[in-house]
Amino acid sequence: MKTILVVEDEMRIARLVRDYLEVAGFEVIVAGEGGAALASARGSKPDLVVLDLGLPGRDGLDVARELRTSSNVPIIILTARGDESDRIVGLELGADDYVVKPFSPKELVARVRAVLRRTEAARDGGPEVLRVLDVEVDVPRMRVTVGGRPVDLTPTEFQLLETMAREPGRVFTRGQLLDAVHGVAFESYERAIDAHVKNIRKKIEPTPGLPRYLLTVHGVGYRFADA
Ligand code: CA
Repeated sequence: MKTILVVEDEMRIARLVRDYLEVAGFEVIVAGEGGAALASARGSKPDLVVLDLGLPGRDGLDVARELRTSSNVPIIILTARGDESDRIVGLELGADDYVVKPFSPKELVARVRAVLRRTEAARDGGPEVLRVLDVEVDVPRMRVTVGGRPVDLTPTEFQLLETMAREPGRVFTRGQLLDAVHGVAFESYERAIDAHVKNIRKKIEPTPGLPRYLLTVHGVGYRFADA
């Protein structure tokens, strides 16, 4: 049974999340503030942490940073609507996904499952040929096909696509994508990522203006569609 640590100071929300996760077959530990959360994370070694960023005392982002110094436990952050900068900072500190409040507990359970699936696949080293929808990314050969049709990408475009195709559904900030192509891209501006994505879309999307594969996450970044 997988253990989920839920860090949330509002008991009504914490209980609701706990109940839904338990029904879904998870063991749940609840912590109401950052210090207790870090102690639980060390002691019970949860398989995933759901972390509210709005905590009393120790700030949620600070808790995320601290969690990351000692482990790779998957983290889903809970953020308030409109708090885009917190969302970006959280993802860049290494959170794996975010859910915006108010949220449906069912959606949160689905995200927990998806993140666990994704992080397990990544931990296994991942396959050499990635297949997402009808896009195939042959990593050793640096070849991409869409519906069997070969697509010609630049090395930077290939790396960006590979990074996102490795974890379909995961939201990447522009800063994270820039890191992923470090050493290839000279542009130091995050907006350069937008230009690369635009070019990739022209090459892989049937309708570049209405992307099916590389989706924009407004105010945050991009993700590869997972369904
Ligand atoms: Ca809160």
